[in-house]
Amino acid sequence: MKQSIPAKGQAGGWFRSSNRRSLAGAVGILLSASSLTLALDGPSASDVLARLKAGNERFATDASSVPPIDRGRRAVLAKGQSPFATVLSCADSRVPPEIVFNTGLGDLFVVRAAGEVVDRSVLASIEYAVEHVHTPVVVVMGHEFCGAVTAAIETTTSLGPNLDFMLNAIKPAVTRTATVAQKERLKAAILANVDIAVNDTLTQSTILRHLVDEGTVTIFGAYYELESGRVTFSQPVGRTSTVHATATESRR
Ligand SMILES: [Zn+2]
Repeated sequence: MKQSIPAKGQAGGWFRSSNRRSLAGAVGILLSASSLTLALDGPSASDVLARLKAGNERFATDASSVPPIDRGRRAVLAKGQSPFATVLSCADSRVPPEIVFNTGLGDLFVVRAAGEVVDRSVLASIEYAVEHVHTPVVVVMGHEFCGAVTAAIETTTSLGPNLDFMLNAIKPAVTRTATVAQKERLKAAILANVDIAVNDTLTQSTILRHLVDEGTVTIFGAYYELESGRVTFSQPVGRTSTVHATATESRR
């Protein structure tokens, strides 16, 4: 499927363009405002998104507040956790979600893997977060200049079974963006990789799909810019009855 590419110099154009195609739209997932309606006893997806955006705004403007990490906070968390969002991000040292969103201990349930590749362990972690810890939002976040995606584009020889697994998981994003102009290729592949990761979480997890279907959980794709520090989000990925993941786009 063709990837929508922002014009050169158009910061965050993928998400911000007036003619944008959302991440979810690119994989044919129906966007549903009704998915924003969540359980009455927890924050709504829109509330969670607003909190993430506010934290990222503080971070990006060098105005991060000191997160609650003191003894008192630790004592509270020793009795249990109630993070307000789950974030799947790349393992890259420059992309720590807790810092990027200016959050403290116990605020985010973070799952990280190079290239945000969705394997069974990652899926299990996300399933635990949404079903047992009850986070109402899952963010799948890729980032500018991702080394894992770069390697998937450039590597033509085996790096061993484990690295090969990761690179092969990203290859569908590489294939999808094969015709994109060189100077735009990496970003296009990174966005496609997030796209596919979002789709994978829905098509490979019955638990997550059910929670999204009933409006309990909402998924957002996201893209982090290393230098500006800013995160842009996709439209909410809602009910999954119209997911059209193709076999060639599946990671496994
Ligand atoms: Zn990366």
